[in-house]
Amino acid sequence: MYERAAKLYQQTSASFCEKPELAADSLEELRIALEELHVAEEELLEQNEALASMRAQIEAESRRYQELFEFAPDGYLITDELGIIKEANRAAATMLNVPQQFLLGKPIINFIPYEERSTFRSRLQQLRNTERLQEWELRLFPRHSAGFDAALTVATIRNNDGSTTGWRWLMRDITTRKQAEAKLREIELQNLQLRETARIKSHFLAVMSHELRSPMNAIIGFSQLLLRHPSDRLSPQQESMVRRVFNSGRHLLHLIDEILDFSKLEAGRLEFQLEEFSLVEFVNATTEEMHPLVEQKHLTLQVQLDLQNPIILNDKHRLRQVLINLLSNAIKFTDAGSIRVSVCEPACEQIAIAVQDTGIGIAADDLKDIFTEFRQVNQTLVRQHGGTGLGLAITDRLVQMMRGSISVTSQLGQGSTFCVEIPRRVSF
Ligand code: ADP
Repeated sequence: MYERAAKLYQQTSASFCEKPELAADSLEELRIALEELHVAEEELLEQNEALASMRAQIEAESRRYQELFEFAPDGYLITDELGIIKEANRAAATMLNVPQQFLLGKPIINFIPYEERSTFRSRLQQLRNTERLQEWELRLFPRHSAGFDAALTVATIRNNDGSTTGWRWLMRDITTRKQAEAKLREIELQNLQLRETARIKSHFLAVMSHELRSPMNAIIGFSQLLLRHPSDRLSPQQESMVRRVFNSGRHLLHLIDEILDFSKLEAGRLEFQLEEFSLVEFVNATTEEMHPLVEQKHLTLQVQLDLQNPIILNDKHRLRQVLINLLSNAIKFTDAGSIRVSVCEPACEQIAIAVQDTGIGIAADDLKDIFTEFRQVNQTLVRQHGGTGLGLAITDRLVQMMRGSISVTSQLGQGSTFCVEIPRRVSF
């Protein structure tokens, strides 16, 4: 633009006198130049406005960041390369218990315990070669107050030539997390100890039960031998005594077996021997076994089988144990009336076995307890009938192992119904 004006000036001053027609051309040229100048001026104004609005935006953004920094819940610090605090937000001031303005100029190492300062320094030196250190856990000691567990995240600030000029520090109070971790460790340890105690207990019970079984078998076996031909060698009084030894021996063996089974179940050492068999034959044979006891108490025992397909896959011995437990309880707690065993298929591939009695029933409040080991309700009756309080606990666990469930409905004085639902084919 200036070049053009200078050229115009030269032309006009040299030639206006010689060629007056040049004057008109020059004036036209001048008009165009002025017009262009005007356009350029407007463009400049527009650019200035855009620049001003950009600056306002940048200032707003920087205020926003400053507020974020200032009011962040975590402590933020900026230090130089010697660790002298240059900037600190409110949270940092609160954490270190020093007013914000007094924090500036203080070395960050002031808040590190003496014994850890040399480690802190060497760690900081190492940081010069890395960009960032995440979750550096240490104890910080605020002014005039107790130390707390902190996690520091440190980012290196570098200038253009790559040399370290300082550090950005993010401080997080992790006291609650540390306490929770310590609690968790404590609980884990307690758990471990409990598991070990349970293991030792199960082992002890298994060994003891095993050791008790052998002499019991001798007592039962030899008293049974004596009873086979009692008249040969025993007086009626002696025979009655041997019968009591035999019955008590069998009772004791049953208790030992229950304890042994329970300890195996608890230790997860009970194994199933799966086989296919007919549920009809199985139920008939098992209920048949109970007839002497039923007759002794003048009760009736009914069996109702409603099955399309009687073949099931299960552990015969363990399923027998379930049914015998339910039946012997039904007989034990029923003084008059009947016991009914019903078997049906409530759903495809499911089997339900219900044992219903007309006995003393169980109070609603007690129902939740009866499957818990060593829990017995109706204390007077239990004392009369004995028992370990393990039968239903074992039954429940066996049914669970069969991937089934057991439920009970009962009314005091009216009787109880225990119902076991299991898959037709048990699988593991
Ligand atoms: P126990 O060896 O004492 O029979 P169980 O675990 O088999 O132990 O039963 C727990 C308790 O549940 C029994 O002591 C008894 O009070 C109650 N119970 C179980 N079955 C019946 C039932 N059919 N009728 C009434 N009470 C029952």
